[in-house]
Amino acid sequence: MEQTFIMIKPDGVQRGLVGEIIGRFEKKGFTLKGLKFLTVDQAFAEKHYADLSSKPFFNGLVEYIISGPVVAMVWEGKNVVTTGRKIIGATNPAESAPGTIRGDFAIDIGRNVIHGSDAVESAKKEIGLWFPEGVANWSSSLHPWIYE
Ligand code: GDP
Ligand code: MG
Repeated sequence: MEQTFIMIKPDGVQRGLVGEIIGRFEKKGFTLKGLKFLTVDQAFAEKHYADLSSKPFFNGLVEYIISGPVVAMVWEGKNVVTTGRKIIGATNPAESAPGTIRGDFAIDIGRNVIHGSDAVESAKKEIGLWFPEGVANWSSSLHPWIYE
């Protein structure tokens, strides 16, 4: 089953949105496979965002991500990468639809509350980086009530 990496960024933690955000993924029907609360250092943040290293906002982005604890998660389910991105909303909250996490809870692109993998391949890479120890091996007993 497909997995994605989701991270509640430091602003999401500071603003008390952890429960709200986890609730949205849970209520959708996705399965939580990994969860940790941690602060990452500069080298780790630079690795996570390596693809963006040439962008003018890169240094500010790294400063933002290391500015406080984050919630790192692995969620599993059918099409969870694409659907997770829909739940999160557009990168710039000015363009995120109401009803999405960024649309409901964010204003500035540099404080957009949450990260979600953009493709199955990047999800695999990010899960490997954030959860080198692996994730939980369990399946929800709700499975037949969510999948036909
Ligand atoms: P995402 O996949 O929707 O998170 O967007 P990207 O992978 O393109 O960018 C990663 C993160 O960098 C975004 O979530 C923003 O926090 C930040 N970011 C992206 N574009 C900009 C920008 O133009 N300005 C600033 N300040 N931050 C940006
Ligand atoms: Mg991205």
